[in-house]
Formats: sequence, C-alpha cells, structure tokens
Amino acid sequence: MTEESTAVTHPFLDLAPLSADRFASIEDRVARLLSTEQDVVIMQGEALLPLEGAIRGTAGPGTTALNVITGPYGQTFGNWLRDCGATVHDLAVPFHTAVTAAQIRDALAEHPEIDFVSLVHAEAATGNTNPVAEIGAVVREHGALFYLDAVASIGAEPVLPDAWGVDLCVIGAQKAMGGPAGVSAVSVSERAWARMAANPGAPRRSYLSLLDWKERWIDGGRKALLHAPAQLEMLALEACVERIEAEGLDAVMARHRSAAAATRAGAVALGGGLEPYVYEAGDAAPVATTLRAPSGVVAAELVARALESDPTLPLAAGGGALAKEMIRVNHYGADAAAEVVRASLAALGAALSAFGVSADAVGAREAVAEVWGRG
Ligand SMILES: *Cc1c(COP(=O)(O)O)cnc(C)c1O
Repeated sequence: MTEESTAVTHPFLDLAPLSADRFASIEDRVARLLSTEQDVVIMQGEALLPLEGAIRGTAGPGTTALNVITGPYGQTFGNWLRDCGATVHDLAVPFHTAVTAAQIRDALAEHPEIDFVSLVHAEAATGNTNPVAEIGAVVREHGALFYLDAVASIGAEPVLPDAWGVDLCVIGAQKAMGGPAGVSAVSVSERAWARMAANPGAPRRSYLSLLDWKERWIDGGRKALLHAPAQLEMLALEACVERIEAEGLDAVMARHRSAAAATRAGAVALGGGLEPYVYEAGDAAPVATTLRAPSGVVAAELVARALESDPTLPLAAGGGALAKEMIRVNHYGADAAAEVVRASLAALGAALSAFGVSADAVGAREAVAEVWGRG
C-alpha cells in the first residue's frame, strides 16, 4: 500500500503570498471608496491601530488639541493625546445629540492656539452622527489638523475626506462595510505627513508608525512591502470592497438609511415607553439605532430576553453605565435589511410584553414596511 498524503488543502491556510501589486490595488480601491486623492495606508489590524498611530504620529508636547466627545471613543482619543504630551481641551456633548459646527467654532475662538481637532463621525455605540462637512469648513478656516474616526460611518453615509478637509480619516471594515474586524485604513493629507515628519515623537520603525509606510512603501513607488502582509485580512478587505462595488456604494448607504429610519419609526410605533435615544432624527446615525428602555425596565435585561427568541438578532445593550437604559440595534452590514429590522422590533415587542409592558407589534411592523417602501 502506498502512503498517501493526509494533508487536505484548506482555503484559509494554503494561501499564496499577497504581492505588492495586489496590496497597492486594494489600497486604490479603498481610496475610491473614500473619493480621495490622498495617500491611503492600509493597516493590517483592527481600527484602533490607525486611530492610535495617527494620533501618536501627529501629536506631541507642542500640540493643543480640541477633542470632541460624543461617545466612548472620544474619551480614548483624549487619553492618547494627553499621553503624547498634548494640551487637550475636551468638548463633550450629551450622547442623545450631535455636536454642531457652531460649538466647534466657539471652542476654537476660546482657544485660538488649537492646532489639532479630533472627532468621531458616527458613533455605533451611542447612535449619533456629527455634521462633518460643516465642522470641516470651520476647522479648515482655523487651520487646525482634522482627525476623523469614520469607522462607523463608512458604508452607511457619505465619507468625503477631500471635500471636507479631513487630514486623517480612519475607516474599518467591520461595521457598514460588512467585513471582518482586523483590517482598517487611513487617508493621510500632505499636511498630516508634514506634521508627522516634523514630530520627533512620531513612532518610527514601529507597528504604530504611519511614517514607515510613507517612507518605505509610498515614497518607494509601492514596490516593496514593509513586512509579509496579513493575507487573510487583505483578501477579506478586497472581497468586502468588491461586494460594495457590486451593490453600489449608494445602494449600500441607502440600505443603512432605510434600516435606521425604519427602526426609529418602528420603535415609536411599538410604544410602551420605548423611545429613540437620539432626540432628533437628523442626529441619528444610519449605522445603528439606539433606543431608551421604558422606565422601570433594565435595557440589558430586555435585550437578553429578546435574544432568547433569536440569538442572531443584532441587538445589544449600551456599554458600561448605559447598559441600564440603552438598547442598540446594530443594523449594519448584512443586517441593514428590512427583515432583520422587523424581526428585531418584533423580539423587542415580545420582550416588553413579557415584562408587562404593552407594545403594538402590528403597528411596529406596519411602520417598518412603510419606511422601507419609501426608502
Ligand atoms: C466600532 C468602532 C470602532 C472600532 O472599534 P471596535 O469596538 O473594536 O469595533 C472605532 N470607532 C468607532 C466610532 C466605532 O464605532
């Protein structure tokens, strides 16, 4: 009997090396998704990698930053900025609303030395979205470097770094792009590169370094990669962008808009004291909808009950202290679908009934159908 190999080829394991050309072409496709002429650096890690790398690259003891806090990520950015030695002015707004361009203008007038502004575009964790186009105009006029976390907005609503004057725009694949966590990218303006090059504290020869990619990859004509690329992540990012291109970015964004509008209308129709957490529909993010639990009902318990009927529904309670009052409907990626929204509201309605709160399940269903028909 001849000996036969027992090794079975596996689609995740037996991968050819990813070439520099292929890597560059994926970067170009991501750039098209952002309608940007800026350099795009793909970071082969979860979005926190470029988010941190971009701050450590551009901020230092000479930096005065305006850090806008509209959810949990703003807090993290402030901590990194302080850790870099920057002077930080926090501008926190309640999670049920968005920051306005006027508030940014006032903060810049109060501290004219501000030369860095950090902002989260949409917050999946709190369900709000900020008017970046208007804010960008104010930041540009002031002359500060503009850093934007667009992880939760890309794919769900327009993200236009060039048109908005964003110097560092970070995206990740795991929300509305419908991809895996583990790949992310950042577009970098000439101004931001100059700031990094002049920053003695910018990470160099480091996994956090954007400058390494500039000097050793981009400036060399994108011929030689810095290290062996993470093939699985890069292939997943490519597939993810391909799928968006096939559906059309506008159609993907429309799906998210409809999901948000339908969830909001459906929750209002459901009644029983369930309310949109973000007061104004215009401040609500297309990527995810947050709801306020009725008084006397703990959000985390309501969500747990709703998930008993179907654990695959994209429902979660708010993080930390918000777990008591906030319900999150994470209708992003493949979950930006009428059927998912309908089922999520039905499960929440049944859970409310189980807690002795009357809910109008039929009304919710009709509201979802009506919004989706309009969308
Ligand atoms: C999801 C998200 C990230 C990425 O962080 P994870 O919690 O690891 O998914 C970053 N910023 C924002 C605004 C996000 O919504």
